[in-house]
Amino acid sequence: MAARRVAVIGGGIAGVACALAAHRSGAEVTLLDRGRVLGGRMASRRMRGTGLPYDGRTADVGAGYLTADDAGFEAVVADWVGRGLARPWTRSFDVRGEPSPTDRIDGPLRYAAPQGLRSLVEDLAADLPSVVSSREVEIVERSGSGALVDGDRYDAVALAMPGPQAMDLLAADDPAAEVLRAQRWEPVLALVAAFERRTWPVLDGVFVNDSAVLSFVADDGRRRGDDAPVLVAHSTGVLAARHLDEPASALPLLLAALAQAVPGATEPTWVDVRRWSLARPRVQHDREHWWDGTLGLCGDAWGPRSRIQAAWRSGSGLGARLALSGI
Ligand SMILES: Cc1cc2nc3c(=O)[nH]c(=O)nc-3n(C[C@H](O)[C@H](O)[C@H](O)COP(=O)(O)OP(=O)(O)OC[C@H]3O[C@@H](n4cnc5c(N)ncnc54)[C@H](O)[C@@H]3O)c2cc1C
Repeated sequence: MAARRVAVIGGGIAGVACALAAHRSGAEVTLLDRGRVLGGRMASRRMRGTGLPYDGRTADVGAGYLTADDAGFEAVVADWVGRGLARPWTRSFDVRGEPSPTDRIDGPLRYAAPQGLRSLVEDLAADLPSVVSSREVEIVERSGSGALVDGDRYDAVALAMPGPQAMDLLAADDPAAEVLRAQRWEPVLALVAAFERRTWPVLDGVFVNDSAVLSFVADDGRRRGDDAPVLVAHSTGVLAARHLDEPASALPLLLAALAQAVPGATEPTWVDVRRWSLARPRVQHDREHWWDGTLGLCGDAWGPRSRIQAAWRSGSGLGARLALSGI
């Protein structure tokens, strides 16, 4: 019997995990992503023109770290750590504001990646036979027992991206679009602030609970392990929504809030603001993916909590089903 032809649209960790599981289950898989590079929200930004000794270094501007408590994902992370692609970073973050009674809070071990979290997605994708970057899909239509992706026929198609992006590809009355209509997403702005030297007390990250502007700050040098004095701060959704059309207009507010959250972090030499219009889902679907035998949906809005691990699990689960015919 001929292998099923499968298209996975979206090269974030959910799409790559999906494509990999389908490939390993015997499907003939093509992964399509509109980005120049894979990774989606596990994204890096190269810092150019800073005039700093570490000019050209990259900073993580999307996801800040990953955690793992699922046996399958733990094995993937252990493999990355073993090959030096991922590194255990920290269990403790500082806290500003309630509800912490102390100024530090312990949690699960957070992992980071010396080459940026995006490099982990690229590592997974290295085993895929067919990856097409810089390819923005425009339309996915059902046709007979399969589907057309911009006119190319496949037996099964997975949409591995935030719901509003997936809905743009589908007919409004498609059952998959009906499912996605319930999704609501929140934006975030990510500020990268580069300094000549570290002018703040030692910290890995800060949960900022008492600010209308910032929610989290990471020391990117300690996270990556190269010790570069670079901070990355994530805004609140409310602040991002107000400045989505012109993210740079939020800069004065972001810098003032950064100086308050991290004493000494004033007057960076170089700054940049990155906009995430669809940063995180406000509500989660209670199942890990959706699949009707032809079209599948996966990503971090599927499953218990929008995290990298959830996206990986969602994609992996769907991918194993794509290679098999029927529901
Ligand atoms: C600021 C920020 C901080 C975060 N912090 C953390 C954290 O600390 N820990 C954690 O675990 N998670 C964190 N997350 C969440 C984490 O990044 C996501 O859960 C995970 O990366 C989602 O992966 P995904 O594959 O589901 O989606 P995405 O990474 O969004 O991938 C979707 C892909 O689809 C592609 N695409 C979209 N439309 C098309 C089209 N028409 N044609 C072709 N390709 C298309 C995009 O290019 C993209 O590559 C954070 C996210 C943000 C934005």
